[in-house]
Amino acid sequence: MDVVSGIAPSEAIDIVRRERPSLGDERVALDDALGRVLAEDLASRCDHPGVDNSALDGYACRVKDTEGASTAAPVRLRLVGEAPAGRPYQGRVGPGEAVRIFTGAAVPDGADGIVPVEASREPDEAAAVVELLQPARASDIRRRAQDLEDGRVYLARGRRLDAAALGLAAGMGHGTVPVVRRPRVALLTTGDEVVDPGRPLERGQVYDSNGASLMALGRAAGAEMVRLPRVGDDAAALEEALGRAGRVDLLLTSGGVSMGRYDLVRDLLFDKGAVHFWKVAMKPGGPALFGRLGDLPVLGLPGNPVSSMVVFLVLGRSFLDAALGRNDPLPYRDRRQARASTRFAAASAKESLPRARLSRDDAGLHAAALPNQSSGVLRSMTEADALAVVPPGTDVAVGDLVDVIPLAGHLR
Ligand code: AMP
Ligand code: MG
Repeated sequence: MDVVSGIAPSEAIDIVRRERPSLGDERVALDDALGRVLAEDLASRCDHPGVDNSALDGYACRVKDTEGASTAAPVRLRLVGEAPAGRPYQGRVGPGEAVRIFTGAAVPDGADGIVPVEASREPDEAAAVVELLQPARASDIRRRAQDLEDGRVYLARGRRLDAAALGLAAGMGHGTVPVVRRPRVALLTTGDEVVDPGRPLERGQVYDSNGASLMALGRAAGAEMVRLPRVGDDAAALEEALGRAGRVDLLLTSGGVSMGRYDLVRDLLFDKGAVHFWKVAMKPGGPALFGRLGDLPVLGLPGNPVSSMVVFLVLGRSFLDAALGRNDPLPYRDRRQARASTRFAAASAKESLPRARLSRDDAGLHAAALPNQSSGVLRSMTEADALAVVPPGTDVAVGDLVDVIPLAGHLR
């Protein structure tokens, strides 16, 4: 490793993933399962549809009986009954007969096509006759199991449950789902100058913005977040605060991991814990630290607001996604390619992850670097759509292709 710049981001990701805890599973009701991760493959418990059914409101009959039907030459069939959804017609449709049918209702035996109600007339209710103005179509029958087959797996373990997956789980007959236990993450923000938002600032103080963004990033990642009371730059207070974290799967700290003499999270980990790595060759986020205190994994995020968010997205998410067994790509690897519409400056020995705005036109996706790339510019994370990925040493020129990591999906 490069002792000045640190290890490569992908190497740091591997180390973090290797240290993932095993979380165990639990069963939750579907209505409580949004955002949870499936612990097992989920197979269907039924066919869907369970029987051949009608795709529309109309008449079920024999296609053969309706050949050549048109407005000018309607075909008259005898109406022998009705098949509403959920109440199948018990008889059989014979030659010259039709059954009034509704969307989702089982197609009666004997019928092999449907005429939509829009292409029909019932001239006389009492006569029990229907006039069909077009031939019946077999394609308006939804075939049994065309959607789901009993016993087949449609949702794989590791799948994060979204609205569509939850609907599918229900449609497959599952009232509850086996999910991975939520990782518990304790968050400790540090710094003598850092104070709670909502009160006046004194000279030299700054609001604790990392606390709010990291709580939200953790929750968006599926973690149960516990906020520890913030501490100043005081070694004893810091050690005491971390000792009080209780049973958690990850300790997340903000601040105090850089090169300065008051960077006490770093000192504590080196002196009383174990350090897997300190410094990652990325910008922002270079001073990131990952280690252990006792048997608790600790991810030390730099205090600069942009750095703390970016390191969380690159390393925090790698740890949590691995613990959860998620099967979708990590944020760091979930990239698109865009055409650079501004220059993206490289750092000499580090990978740069500058904030960028995305736009799209007929030529495709474009990325423009935000003008101020200082890691202290809090508002830039709200103005950016993506992080670009600029390899060490090579600027991206206007017109070049550049990898981008879209942010929106990871921030909520
Ligand atoms: P540090 O990593 O402790 O050297 O802090 C780097 C910069 O981030 C300093 O300008 C801090 O004031 C700022 N900072 C540290 N913690 C926070 C926080 N929780 N919220 C906002 N800014 C912070
Ligand atoms: Mg500090």
